[in-house]
Amino acid sequence: MSTDRHDDPPDAFHPDTLAVGFGYDPQDASGAVKPPVMLTSTFAYPSAAAAKQAHRDYFDGAAPGRDAAFIYARLDHPNLALLEKRFAALEGAEEAAAFASGMAAISAILLAHLKPGDSVLHTRPLYGGTHGLLHGPIAGIGVTPVAIGDALDAASLAEAAEAASRHGPVALIFVETPANPTNGIADIALIARTAATLAERQGGRRPVVVVDNTFLGSLLQAPLRHGADLAMTSLTKYAGGHSDLIGGAVSGGKAMIGPLRRLRTLLGSHLDPFTSWLALRSLETFPLRNRRANANAAIVADFLRDHPKVAGVSYLGFLEAGTPARAVFDRQCAGAGSTFSFRIRGGEAEAFAMLDRLKVFRMAVSLGGTESLICHSASTTHYSVPPEIRREVGVDDATLRISIGIEHPDDLVADLASALDALP
Ligand SMILES: *Cc1c(COP(=O)(O)O)cnc(C)c1O
Repeated sequence: MSTDRHDDPPDAFHPDTLAVGFGYDPQDASGAVKPPVMLTSTFAYPSAAAAKQAHRDYFDGAAPGRDAAFIYARLDHPNLALLEKRFAALEGAEEAAAFASGMAAISAILLAHLKPGDSVLHTRPLYGGTHGLLHGPIAGIGVTPVAIGDALDAASLAEAAEAASRHGPVALIFVETPANPTNGIADIALIARTAATLAERQGGRRPVVVVDNTFLGSLLQAPLRHGADLAMTSLTKYAGGHSDLIGGAVSGGKAMIGPLRRLRTLLGSHLDPFTSWLALRSLETFPLRNRRANANAAIVADFLRDHPKVAGVSYLGFLEAGTPARAVFDRQCAGAGSTFSFRIRGGEAEAFAMLDRLKVFRMAVSLGGTESLICHSASTTHYSVPPEIRREVGVDDATLRISIGIEHPDDLVADLASALDALP
């Protein structure tokens, strides 16, 4: 990780070690133990010939920017390159590209792989932004999105693929697993096999399998290992982890990430130097924060499950043995994470009364921060979703979503207990 070990393969180290130092050599920055933030929009060429070489490397290289000199910060810059290198190592991926937000990452993926006349398969429910993008602007350019009924069932997948194929070749399969906020599971390996089957029928054109890994996070699920071509995550959530930045990342093979970087340059949706620096700093404690939040979440979920005012808890750790979801969860996920929903007995009035009594939990959307958050899904994150769809995806007036932070678990449980106990 310093000069002589600079090119050691990342799998020589544990994630905790990679998170702290991988990819940075203090000798590149006057010996500074921590990487400086490079606030510059452009980079001076040492000579005219070097300028030509930098452009040749960037525009003709397989992975623009990686080993080339920097040119202009929208193309690539040192803090971005370092963040991408370390994030890719944590993901066990060949390459990663960071974007100005999770949605910017998703936008680039969709624009890179879809053209008019194509169809897209997707799991359901989708994150609101993804749903809006697919069914709004992307549908608007003549791409047909088709939802998969049950992403754990081969027959259901085949049926959706059949329906999508009637609208045009299936160019991409967008998988959100676990789903936000229902924690519904999709079988990534099964979906990758469906993509292979579709390739045979589409003259070799294999749909790109994309997994939105935001809800569980990079440390608990490795979509690339299960056959996904691209794994995207919102850095805003677990990786950023402090609710103080917005960013997104995509990881995958070199041949997939290179074109995404080039497209990012055209869209202007790179992650800026300061936010890249902040995200890198966040990565250092990512494994540590994750372990604590996951342990806290297990305690809070147990408490809620046993509470008389709680009607149900959709915590992944409670998936029933013997169900298809449990089998896929055991194979695909390394833990239950720290974001889940629960339903209290009653409706909106009881939910609001409880929320207004909380002192430790902050009432806000988003997830994966050091602080515990709670929100009433139907009136906030799912406000614009029609009630019948809300019901279908398991969001009703009694549903509350919580993201558990790294506070002391006793304080979290006590906060919830006093708010629930005060309900009539
Ligand atoms: C937050 C989120 C996104 C979007 O990420 P931003 O960084 O807010 O753009 C995408 N997918 C899921 C599942 C999310 O929770």
